[in-house]
Amino acid sequence: MEKKEIIERCPYVKKCGACHIGEMSYEDELAQKKKWVADCIGKYCQKINDVSGMYYPYHYRNKVHAVFGRRSDKEKGKDEVIAGTYAAGTHTIIPVRDCLIEDAQSSAIIQTVTELVQSFRLWVYNEDTGRGLMRHVLVRKGTSTKQIMVVLVIASPEFPHKNHFVESLRQCHPEITTIVQNINEKQTTMVLGERNKILYGQGYIEDVLLGLRFRISPGSFYQVNSGQTQVLYKKVIQAANLTGTETVIDAYCGIGTIGMCLHAKAGRVIGIELNEQAVKDARANARRNGLDRMHFAAADATEYMTRMSQNGERADVVVMDPPRSGSTEAFVKAVSSLHPRSVIYVSCNPETLGRDLGWFAREGYRAEEAWPVDMFGFTDNVEAIVKMQYCGKEKN
Ligand code: SAH
Repeated sequence: MEKKEIIERCPYVKKCGACHIGEMSYEDELAQKKKWVADCIGKYCQKINDVSGMYYPYHYRNKVHAVFGRRSDKEKGKDEVIAGTYAAGTHTIIPVRDCLIEDAQSSAIIQTVTELVQSFRLWVYNEDTGRGLMRHVLVRKGTSTKQIMVVLVIASPEFPHKNHFVESLRQCHPEITTIVQNINEKQTTMVLGERNKILYGQGYIEDVLLGLRFRISPGSFYQVNSGQTQVLYKKVIQAANLTGTETVIDAYCGIGTIGMCLHAKAGRVIGIELNEQAVKDARANARRNGLDRMHFAAADATEYMTRMSQNGERADVVVMDPPRSGSTEAFVKAVSSLHPRSVIYVSCNPETLGRDLGWFAREGYRAEEAWPVDMFGFTDNVEAIVKMQYCGKEKN
């Protein structure tokens, strides 16, 4: 799409703040992202490859989220329910429709949910007073299975007109495979609360990546761009260079996707993840795919690896994929105590990646090569894989 066409097709350019579509060409954006990665990690890693970009960088988000609000329409003399995203740096809701980076089917479902909230006269939650019911709607889609999960985040276990609401939603969108009520009663900026009630279907969706089938629950992390995730994981497989005998650790493993993709070429794989819902998904995923040399620990990755090393265990390869805040010095020391030959760092934040590579360098791990992958087109995020090898600690 040409820049002019994008600006015409997206009426929210510069308003909603979720992306910077229309500001530069996709090619320029990829070049800028490479420079950003180089600025952050160039001190530790000499070889930085070009960013692997998307062939079609639109409608790639498989997870679409909107917050409910109200807007008074003076002309019509009434209040209406809206759903959208907060304008950059504010708490003003921009009612986004037909977003160019979100999955189009999911956007249409959010539109219908909003209309139903209005027609069933459900009370929209007010962030300032903490009163009201309907807080957020989240739609997640399995890109290859086409399964769709709608999560309605409600500030109470009660859901007036629940059965009618679910029925109407399903009638408008028979493609929905499961509907879940998430209960979030706290005054918090976190979208999801801890409790889920299944209103229709199985309560989770599945997706297929590199021939493996994964189950995804409402609260489990799953990469938002399924196409590019496969590009990313293929690079990880290549970087790990396994021969079939290695003990591999997948730290911060989520629902176990990376470790499972490495399983075929590994001796055994241990996934470590803090979120118990994700670990449940991970165990079900390993069983479902018949992967019998794969184990999961619901634990803090640093504590678990430290215990492994105290028990005299070692690892050959550690793959790590921490949240945006990166890892910690204690985590890096725990990795080093297992004496892996290689560490593969999958990062979604070049800044914390740069900091963490410094800690690894002190433990004797040299960054050999980096492969940035664009998972989040038109936003200020880039993913990067860095391969590190143990070269021996420098003597002080
Ligand atoms: N590798 C996965 C998930 C990466 S997201 C994938 O590719 O899909 C990062 C994950 O780290 C999240 O699932 C989060 O719950 C988990 N996490 C955060 N802090 C952690 C910790 N201290 N120990 C273990 N896991 C942690």
